[in-house]
Amino acid sequence: MKKDYSLHNKDLSDKMEEECGVFGIYANKKVDVSNLSYLGLHALQHRGQESAGICVNHKGEFRNYKDMGLVTNVFDEEKLAELTGEMAIGHVRYSTTGSSLLANAQPLLINSIKGDLALAHNGNLVNSAEMRANLEQQGSIFHSTLDTEVIAHLVARSFKDNIIEAFTHSLQQIRGAYSIVAMTEDSLIAARDPHGFRPLSIGKLGDSYVVASESCAFDIIGAKLIRDVNPGEMVIINEDGVNSIYYGERELNNFCVFEFIYFARPDSVIGGQSVHLARREMGRQLAKEMEVEADLVIPVPSSGIPAALGFAEESGIPYEQGILRNKYVGRTFIQPTQEIRNLKVKIKLNPIKEIIKGKKVVLIDDSIVRGTTSKLIIKAVKAAGAKEVHMAISSPPVTHPCFYGLDTSRRKELIASNNSIEEICKHIGADSLGYLSQEGLAKSIKANGYDFCTACLDGDYPLELGSGKYDFE
Ligand code: AMP
Repeated sequence: MKKDYSLHNKDLSDKMEEECGVFGIYANKKVDVSNLSYLGLHALQHRGQESAGICVNHKGEFRNYKDMGLVTNVFDEEKLAELTGEMAIGHVRYSTTGSSLLANAQPLLINSIKGDLALAHNGNLVNSAEMRANLEQQGSIFHSTLDTEVIAHLVARSFKDNIIEAFTHSLQQIRGAYSIVAMTEDSLIAARDPHGFRPLSIGKLGDSYVVASESCAFDIIGAKLIRDVNPGEMVIINEDGVNSIYYGERELNNFCVFEFIYFARPDSVIGGQSVHLARREMGRQLAKEMEVEADLVIPVPSSGIPAALGFAEESGIPYEQGILRNKYVGRTFIQPTQEIRNLKVKIKLNPIKEIIKGKKVVLIDDSIVRGTTSKLIIKAVKAAGAKEVHMAISSPPVTHPCFYGLDTSRRKELIASNNSIEEICKHIGADSLGYLSQEGLAKSIKANGYDFCTACLDGDYPLELGSGKYDFE
């Protein structure tokens, strides 16, 4: 379904596209839920660096602590010691321009006559502007720009008296991408939208249950991955055990392909597929598709490493870690202005002259979004004495913005939306440029029962957008 949404309202004054990480634990024995949540969120830190929060539940009483910053900055031993309970949910939030506010930090707590509910949400609703306007007309007062608050108001206003039914009812009214972890006085709930855009998995730690955006959060606490929450499924965990309901019409499965390309951690497993191995296969496929003569395959660290390994294996060109990454710098995207982004690439990546000098190099990265990273790194690799630099990208060109929760920029900032591959090659200063084909990408990912949303690569948006906050320009 290819659509032209260019006539949509362009109000992006407070951009809400956001990627986040969610975590939840239901303890059947006495375990330290706050420390485990802290560790789980720490493993999900790549999904959001703006704010972090943990809400614990002790015998039905909620205690919520959240603040701006990284997980390690927000929590210390003292704060975690105060967060005791038998259940907890946690959240890390991504930074996007204009919405870096504590009011937007999660978990979000709702006190209603039906009972209390805490929510942690990853994704982006496509009908939240309409829903919000309706709710405001009916007297709801919003405290944040979060989509999650729309869900909170729907729960509060629902005519269902049971909190879980009210929550289910509110999910039936919203449309978009969401993986939500919620907590009532006696239950931990994990729900994924009917398209299954964003990841969400269930795991087990001894007798306790855990849920998280990615399975890497289970590894860190010694929990075992059981399975992914299915699209349109709500899993309810309480003293009756684990129950599952399908609360909406099941749509086509549209898991975000960019999670496999870039966003998810390589040590996570999604749909039974190791993210690292999928990326390695993308590199192999790319080597099959791209004819290039070179002395070395060098990854742009760290996102290009798995694909560079695959490329080297397939092409027979030796792999070298010819660019050093300073580990103590955050992701370049988290800085909103272009000037700071430019500077950060230089701080972050340093080519090793002794490896690169006089060599023909294939440089591998997972994606080009605006072209900033490639341009600067190619310049630096050439300055380090490379004879030729061939840029190999282990995904197809990113041509369209994402409205389902990933911050892949407005269309005019996406270099591949209005430039040919030759023009991009010239702009980034490469001797040649190759992208992985969409077929090659599809062949590389073997996630059981998963189909993909590829809107950012082909404009094929699986879920129609509402009005209010979409900018295609
Ligand atoms: P750019 O410099 O704008 O071309 O962005 C491409 C670089 O950013 C690549 O090195 C990617 O690994 C990384 N990247 C791609 N998509 C994202 C995203 N949504 N958030 C943060 N980094 C990204």
